[in-house]
Amino acid sequence: MKVVKTINEVKNIVNDWKKQGLSIGFIPTMGYLHEGHGSLIIKARENSKVVVSIFVNPMQFGPAEDLDKYPRDLEKDSKYCEELGVDLIFNPEPEEMYPEGFCTSVNMSVLSEELCGLSRPVHFTGVCTVVNKLLNIVNPDKAYFGEKDAQQLAIIRRMVKDLNMDVEIVGCPIIREEDGLAKSSRNTYLNSEERRAALVLSKSIFAGKKMVEEGCREVDVLLKKMKDIIEREPLARIDYLKVVDAMTMQQVNTIDRPVLVAMAVYLGNVRLIDNFSFIPE
Ligand code: AMP
Repeated sequence: MKVVKTINEVKNIVNDWKKQGLSIGFIPTMGYLHEGHGSLIIKARENSKVVVSIFVNPMQFGPAEDLDKYPRDLEKDSKYCEELGVDLIFNPEPEEMYPEGFCTSVNMSVLSEELCGLSRPVHFTGVCTVVNKLLNIVNPDKAYFGEKDAQQLAIIRRMVKDLNMDVEIVGCPIIREEDGLAKSSRNTYLNSEERRAALVLSKSIFAGKKMVEEGCREVDVLLKKMKDIIEREPLARIDYLKVVDAMTMQQVNTIDRPVLVAMAVYLGNVRLIDNFSFIPE
């Protein structure tokens, strides 16, 4: 496995692979890898070569967000990638990705204006721009994204379609801790009380999923039950809890089409997300 820091090195290695007719799977990450990332890497081994990028992208953090304290451990991440059979890690510095004079961005309306887009206004412009750049640099056959970030996945699918990008986007299921909490690099911010309290997210998700699977189609009824579960925990504060059309991310009142049920909840200063998708018959 190689770890490289420049765009040219990635392009040269990938060009060589392409000349040999090898297929390439790509997983963009911000590092501090866990089994959620690992599941994407394992799935990507359906290609001949697997590339992982580790880049804490400044462009997708707002001014008051956690860019500086976002956890980083390249040594541990490299070891984990090596164990999982990754062929190449791309770990650029911000100046490599955003050199002086950089002034282009990829902006998406509609889908990025709901859910996380409301509380993180610059976030998805940063995500679309960096993913676009990374896909241009790595030029993979397939790129792998977690359903944990369901709005991000919908936005990337839309961007690839709208901009006629030549890559297949593969969505992968949410990986959870044994007690239900969705794995996230940000879980390391939680103190022990917040970690215990954080279980209200998955409890609410599981209860909501059961309700719709048993036939509940009224969004008001569903959200009341899910909200009650979260609000019983004094350390938890809801940022949003919504049911949206799975394609457009616009709110619905009735579950009469594929939907995403998504939440963001604060435990102290730590903001966590969780979701489930549902397709009615
Ligand atoms: P991040 O490093 O947080 O930017 O995540 C990189 C990729 O890993 C994204 O596509 C995430 O959706 C995915 N991911 C993160 N956590 C999980 C999880 N618990 N289960 C599945 N995928 C995940």
